[in-house]
Amino acid sequence: MVIKDEVAKCNRCGFCLAACPVYQVTGIETKAPRGRNFLARSLLHKNFTWSEETKESLFQCLGCRACVEACFPAVETDEVVVSMRSDYFREFGEPWLQRYLFRRLLPDPKKLSAAVKQASLLRRGASLMRALSFLPWLNRDFLRALDLLPPLPGQSLREQWPGLFEEKRKKERRVAYFGGCAFNFAMPNIGLSTLGLLATGGFRVFWPEHGCCGLPAYGHGDLEGAKIMARKNLETFKNLDVEAVVTECASCSSFLKKYSILLSQEPGFAGLAQNFSSRVKDISEFLFLSDLSFQRTEFGEIATFHDPCHLNRFQKIRSQPRELLKKVPGLNLVEMVEADWCCGGGAGLNLSNYDLAMKILQRKMENVQKSKAQVLITSCPGCYLQLKHGAKKSGMAIEVRYLTEILAGKG
Ligand code: SF4
Ligand code: SF4
Repeated sequence: MVIKDEVAKCNRCGFCLAACPVYQVTGIETKAPRGRNFLARSLLHKNFTWSEETKESLFQCLGCRACVEACFPAVETDEVVVSMRSDYFREFGEPWLQRYLFRRLLPDPKKLSAAVKQASLLRRGASLMRALSFLPWLNRDFLRALDLLPPLPGQSLREQWPGLFEEKRKKERRVAYFGGCAFNFAMPNIGLSTLGLLATGGFRVFWPEHGCCGLPAYGHGDLEGAKIMARKNLETFKNLDVEAVVTECASCSSFLKKYSILLSQEPGFAGLAQNFSSRVKDISEFLFLSDLSFQRTEFGEIATFHDPCHLNRFQKIRSQPRELLKKVPGLNLVEMVEADWCCGGGAGLNLSNYDLAMKILQRKMENVQKSKAQVLITSCPGCYLQLKHGAKKSGMAIEVRYLTEILAGKG
């Protein structure tokens, strides 16, 4: 995509304003898609130079793509934003810690695992984290956002994996599992539900040791960091003879499908990426296509589904999770208003701009409350943690659950 051409498509009609969650709570034009495109065009044509306001405009975007759906020429403002973030780092340099995270730590599963173990020790002493708050990257927003993160379990999913479902691994249909970092390190029970669904559904599951999918780097504008992770993952999965690569993380599945575009200009990887991306399936589309039934006990509660942006807008997967939930005995699925409105956790906005992300979350939680659901279900770890935080903050009597947990009958 040529970004200059993309921003030139914006005719400043303003249809996107009502769709943008950030504009809806700030009311500031430079934080609307139209304003972001205007600033990007001005920067690209050298009519402007970067200022604090410009930076804020281009870094306070959820990457939710609601604007793209509302826009007649379908200006891809989320891609414009990513490209401008990348330009910013090219001009002013990327913070060393961020660069280390995206280019050294996240691509390397062994280093990442060791770092998470260290972090879990640090986290137990939350006061130590707070004492370190003079460090520029441990800002006030980040410290408050620590409450969003679940306590780290004693054992990661990877540590529990050897021997798991051994009997069921002898099945003929073969799939690979891409276990997102959030499930591996922080929420292994959700990963176990997913693996259990695949195993009992008749699939032999392979799980090679891999790193992060690369989306966090891409969303932050470190395009080379994202490519490093993509290349490493392609190498890791290339010799696996499987019919699909399945993940329960909507963000991972959307980005793994994007490898074919990300590496399309690299002769050594373009073919591999094309083949890999064509086999990636989000768990909801995979289970839906596999037509499995779920052996779970009667559910007996009213539930509603929140559409993660990376599932709904990036992959156009809307009906599949709902159809799967309708198969759960006793589950009464109701639709909430604006089920596809971003929860405020997109692109890690809750870590960098806590107050803004909470204002966006409030609208979501009000709609959840109006639905009268007792259980709120979603299928992206970022949304899951943000919604759990919203339920806790608002004191609402609602349980937040992950799609595969419900399908597997956990709890
Ligand atoms: S981004 Fe699209 S909807 Fe928004 S002002 Fe530009 S053309 Fe109109
Ligand atoms: S991607 Fe989402 S947050 Fe960003 S400009 Fe578009 S609607 Fe607004």
